[in-house]
Amino acid sequence: MRVVIIGAGVVGTSVAFRLAEQGTRTILVEEDRPGAGASGASFAWLNARGRPQRPRHDLNVVGMAAHVALRSELGATPWWHGGGAMTWPVNDADMSRLRRWGYAVEEISREAVLAREPGLAAAALREGPFAYFPDEAWLDAVVYVGAMLIRAETLGAEFRRGRVEDLLVEEGRVAGVRLLDGSTVPADAVVNCAGARANTLVRDPSLHVPLQPTRSLLVVTPPVATGLSRVLHTPGLNLRPDGAGRLMLQADTTDAELGAASTPADAAPSATLLMDRARKLLPALGNAAAETARIGVRPVPADALPALGPVPGLPGYHVAVTPDAVTLAAHLGRVMAATVTDGKLPPALAPFAAARFFDG
Ligand SMILES: Cc1cc2nc3c(=O)[nH]c(=O)nc-3n(C[C@H](O)[C@H](O)[C@H](O)COP(=O)(O)OP(=O)(O)OC[C@H]3O[C@@H](n4cnc5c(N)ncnc54)[C@H](O)[C@@H]3O)c2cc1C
Repeated sequence: MRVVIIGAGVVGTSVAFRLAEQGTRTILVEEDRPGAGASGASFAWLNARGRPQRPRHDLNVVGMAAHVALRSELGATPWWHGGGAMTWPVNDADMSRLRRWGYAVEEISREAVLAREPGLAAAALREGPFAYFPDEAWLDAVVYVGAMLIRAETLGAEFRRGRVEDLLVEEGRVAGVRLLDGSTVPADAVVNCAGARANTLVRDPSLHVPLQPTRSLLVVTPPVATGLSRVLHTPGLNLRPDGAGRLMLQADTTDAELGAASTPADAAPSATLLMDRARKLLPALGNAAAETARIGVRPVPADALPALGPVPGLPGYHVAVTPDAVTLAAHLGRVMAATVTDGKLPPALAPFAAARFFDG
């Protein structure tokens, strides 16, 4: 069997790794550099919070565990950063639901927050209650992409640079993809992992997954000596380390102000605001200004659930488009590889079948 995967983000490279591992002839086609899409502009927090539907929550829990399992499988996963996450104030209803569902969460004191993150300004911690989520983590998503790609190539997968312009169809089933330069890549199955742009490379609108991508501003600081070591959600600011002393900052309020065409330059006042909020929390930021700002586009299906597996109407054609794909990637790699080989999604993933958008 020969499979073409479109898109070298966290999803496409994970699927390529697992397909190559099972001996499937795999070609990964990417128009830009690996990690150039949402995976390279993501907050990349591994979690299962804010998912009041149980199947959705459980899927993210499995995704978190799959990242942890990679460590024993591969020996080292330097892209995975544990240490949990801390949030304040937390909502009582959310906390009791998460506890009922067996999700690891501890209500902790203000002193315990400061003990874990001594760089925080005590005066900035007024609004409790404070919670610690020990199993949560964040991922260097592009480092992960690179690691999956190298493993896939080592196992025989081929990486090809090129822009997919359409699917090839022969005798009523998918037969490969056509690239912008006019060349074709034949295949018995195609997996569309092009994220928010998944529909732009499929000419037939009856094969489109309804998407409503959302935009988010991520501000990155220069290297600063704050000592921050984990994800924090605080009033008006979410933040985490971003490697080599840098921090990544995000806030829902500034995201709400982004327009469909906003550029990072347009968002400069918001970046300044987030930096000011961060320095109140972490005085070691001093007068640092933002080093860079990115606007990431989240691939979000119309009902905000993952869209996975075969697309009815074109045998051999599959999609894997989902929000939270950083949390889910290690799990999706295995699941989608099995789905492509079997031709059907495992029953446990039925609520997330892309087919829901096409049936009836
Ligand atoms: C700001 C922000 C914050 C986020 N925070 C989190 C979080 O905290 N936790 C979490 O789990 N998830 C988070 N997400 C979501 C997560 O980042 C995405 O779901 C994930 O990165 C999507 O990965 P992907 O591989 O599906 O798509 P992408 O990373 O977008 O990869 C798709 C690839 O397809 C390529 N491509 C597109 N069109 C073509 C074509 N025609 N031909 C060839 N190649 C093509 C692109 O160049 C790209 O490299 C966040 C996203 C954003 C934007």
